[in-house]
Amino acid sequence: MPILHSKTLLNNTLNAVTPLKVILALLLLSKISVVQADATPFQWPNGTTAAISLQYDDAVDSQLDNVVPELNKLGLRATFAVSLGSLSFHRRTTEWISLPKQGHELANHTLFHQCIKTPQQSWLEEWQNLSTIAAEQMRDEIFLANTVLASYDQQAERTFTIPCGDRIAKNKKDYVPLIQHHFLGIKTMGGDPARSMKNFDRMDVHSLVPHNATAKQLIAYVEKAKQHGTMASIIFHGIGGDHLAVAKKEHDAFIQYLANHQDVYWVESFANIMRHVKAQEALSAQSTKGKE
Ligand SMILES: [Zn+2]
Repeated sequence: MPILHSKTLLNNTLNAVTPLKVILALLLLSKISVVQADATPFQWPNGTTAAISLQYDDAVDSQLDNVVPELNKLGLRATFAVSLGSLSFHRRTTEWISLPKQGHELANHTLFHQCIKTPQQSWLEEWQNLSTIAAEQMRDEIFLANTVLASYDQQAERTFTIPCGDRIAKNKKDYVPLIQHHFLGIKTMGGDPARSMKNFDRMDVHSLVPHNATAKQLIAYVEKAKQHGTMASIIFHGIGGDHLAVAKKEHDAFIQYLANHQDVYWVESFANIMRHVKAQEALSAQSTKGKE
């Protein structure tokens, strides 16, 4: 009978190639292991495509007045990188330290916002000139800022943003290597969103620093992160007032756009985004280890 005949034929064929079967099985197994290792690509939570870190630096009044109510209305979480010596922080301490209770992050932006005094940064006071301060003094002040911030929000982990992006202190010494192991992530000024999350450097997170930007320009920037599946970090200063201002109308239209597209954009505090990236790094390391 044709059926029996074919079954016998199959059995004979299989018996004849037993060593080949073993080799094939081994090859298949090794292929599965490679597929599994590659099967843990970087993922953002809830099926989103890109992460967005909305950040507001320097602790100025217009952020408390014009930004916090809008963010809370839309249920968006942001990061406020404060310099503890800022006048607004001194005058409105209770409002600033209530931000973590509203879901926002207080990030470290030093005590006194030291940068390198240049003709472009002539607004800096002489005593704020990073070129005249030892890298070790910057380190100690930044750690003190962490201690003070922890007393407000009880957080053991924190992020940092380098004032003006200037990191070379007295005697041409870079202070960032002295502090970076104490932070989940560090933001630097300028640059486009990363093109890939592979080898993403949490200690050098490129950030747009908009001034007089329109909602359209801000949307174009986050769309680059969407295109690459990475993250966009935007560091605002004044909104509808104060320095490096962006008009309130443009800022509001931009965050409304993000609120409307939360299926695509994961809008979170910088600390929470960095925690997620760190967890994904650990998963990827595990999967690579399994492959060996
Ligand atoms: Zn700043």
